[in-house]
Amino acid sequence: MAKLYFSYAAMNAGKSTLLLQASHNYNERGMNTLLYTAALDNRAGIANIASRIGLKARAELFNEGDNLFEKIKEKLQQQSLSCVFVDEAQFLRPEQVWQLARVVDRLEIPVMCYGLRTDFQGKLFPGSSELLAIADILREIRTICHCGAKATMVVRLGDDGAVLVEGEQVAIGGNEKYVSLCRKHWEEETGNWPANRADSPTLNFEENQKRSGN
Ligand SMILES: [Zn+2]
Repeated sequence: MAKLYFSYAAMNAGKSTLLLQASHNYNERGMNTLLYTAALDNRAGIANIASRIGLKARAELFNEGDNLFEKIKEKLQQQSLSCVFVDEAQFLRPEQVWQLARVVDRLEIPVMCYGLRTDFQGKLFPGSSELLAIADILREIRTICHCGAKATMVVRLGDDGAVLVEGEQVAIGGNEKYVSLCRKHWEEETGNWPANRADSPTLNFEENQKRSGN
């Protein structure tokens, strides 16, 4: 039976690499795949999914208004499809996640989505929220913080390297950079911990460790 998969991670965990490798495994066996990635700016057409280690493949763009069930059903009239892959799945609208679920349930094609779990403010993306709710299989792709612990959170850095705590969930065309951190270091970098840092400027990371008995 076909299934809806959601592989989620923080930034720079190699999501696109895994997607491209999985798609390649199908192609190698002579099976067709269909790849999607987010358009973000209402462009239409074709783009590349590229991974940091140099792999890339052609992908169709999805916009927030697209009905992915109808689009995939149309494709199916031209060619067979063994699997649909969606990169940047955090940008799916919740109704598009349901459209992909119908591709699984009604067209019996597996759909593998890859995306970020949370934004730089630690909030779920709408697409990720819906996928976490209804996907058949959830997979965590692991990456690590500078301290060696599992990184589950992301901070957004401005041009000057300072951590940004305000702003739109999706920054388009900016020079922002993202860094993955463990939850503990994310709270410190975003100023959420220590809670009274503003009142006691002498309280630093080491003192805080002693206080909490670590
Ligand atoms: Zn850490």
